[in-house]
Amino acid sequence: MEKIKMTTPLVEMDGDEMTRILWQWIKELLIEPFVDLKTEYYDLGLKHRDETEDRVTLESAAATKKYGVAVKCATITPNAQRVEEYNLKKMWKSPNGTIRAALDGTVFRAPILLDGVTPYIPTWKKPIVIARHAYGDIYKAVDMKVGAGKAELVYTDETGKETRMTVHEFDGAGVIMGMHNTDKSIYSFARACFNYALDMKMPLWFSTKDTISKVYDHRFKDIFAEVYENEYKEKFAAAGIEYMYTLIDDVVARIVRSEGGVVWACKNYDGDVMSDMVATAYGSLAMMTSVLVSPDGIYEYEAAHGTVTRHYYRYMQGGETSTNPVATIFAWTGALAKRGELDKNAALVSFAKRLEKATIDTIEAGEMTGDLVPLFQKEGVTPKKLESRAFLQAIAERL
Ligand code: NAP
Ligand code: MG
Repeated sequence: MEKIKMTTPLVEMDGDEMTRILWQWIKELLIEPFVDLKTEYYDLGLKHRDETEDRVTLESAAATKKYGVAVKCATITPNAQRVEEYNLKKMWKSPNGTIRAALDGTVFRAPILLDGVTPYIPTWKKPIVIARHAYGDIYKAVDMKVGAGKAELVYTDETGKETRMTVHEFDGAGVIMGMHNTDKSIYSFARACFNYALDMKMPLWFSTKDTISKVYDHRFKDIFAEVYENEYKEKFAAAGIEYMYTLIDDVVARIVRSEGGVVWACKNYDGDVMSDMVATAYGSLAMMTSVLVSPDGIYEYEAAHGTVTRHYYRYMQGGETSTNPVATIFAWTGALAKRGELDKNAALVSFAKRLEKATIDTIEAGEMTGDLVPLFQKEGVTPKKLESRAFLQAIAERL
């Protein structure tokens, strides 16, 4: 069989621990036998980030801007324990944070639904897509511990004029934080959400806490309203979908009662947390895909979960691991399909769709990783737990 050719390389960002193992196997068993894979490889594994003083992360982000499509493996965000474990020069920042900051953009997280896995909220029949703003707020904040004294917010404009506000008069120890966002980033967040909703023909809900954050969150609400009114109202009407703004408390209640099938736009932190909750409620964190879309149409695909550390330690001790590779497979298929679409490479797009179908069909026919077994209920099918590599081989056979 002749392999499918690629014209432009994908930016490939390798990662850490169990997902790094799965990464190799996915390429070996599911992609390279069928595609003449072209990638520009960046090793974002923690050891190499440390060796390059994290330059490799910035270089991979620059390459993504150049080529337009990247696929990323999960990576460790170091904490104090990791600094010791890997003997790091420094507690390097989150690579995802660095890449998001470089590309700006919005993260869309969508669950992969299966016939046989009923969400913990059984009324959810369709995907709920979380659109997470990927710039600023607490992820770009400065914070410090303080003692007794006065904390102030000081803004100096371009002419040198100062505006001051008292944050708090401390009579003992405490903590303070200063965070920001930019109108530019909020406008692109809004446009990315409206475009995605139109593309998917799904209604868009946007929520903040503007009743409490009367200036900061209110700015988000106003920008969304302005962009909708001026640029999207007619397009939404023509597509038969609605845009709704409401308080985050209200959306939480509505989402639980809904049947899914909406794009829920969230500020950075809300999206971080809510996407984990939504993923878990759909059955497994390992079934959640994630794509970062920049305002200039650059795409970076990844799984929403982490490096699955506990499974990795077990794997390293020669133990059995049944780690779910589905979200990582879908990161690859998302990237290959987008690359194919941009390069007008129909064979590549079609391959990506077949790989997705083979993956879902394998599970629906009863072969799956351990995390899905207790969730799986389908008449006439007895779920069988496979180790990670055996599961990938089962998909490969079907493919
Ligand atoms: P995690 O790697 O997502 O794993 C949390 C738990 O969820 C696992 O212990 C496992 O539960 C289950 N799980 C997650 N993915 C799974 C999969 N594919 N198959 C089966 N089970 C899965 O999160 P974490 O333990 O909080 O973080 C581990 C490391 O990942 C950290 O160093 C963190 O910095 C990093 N991280 C990276 C990203 C990213 O790069 N996007 C995102 C999040 C976290 P059981 O052990 O009970 O089976
Ligand atoms: Mg999270």
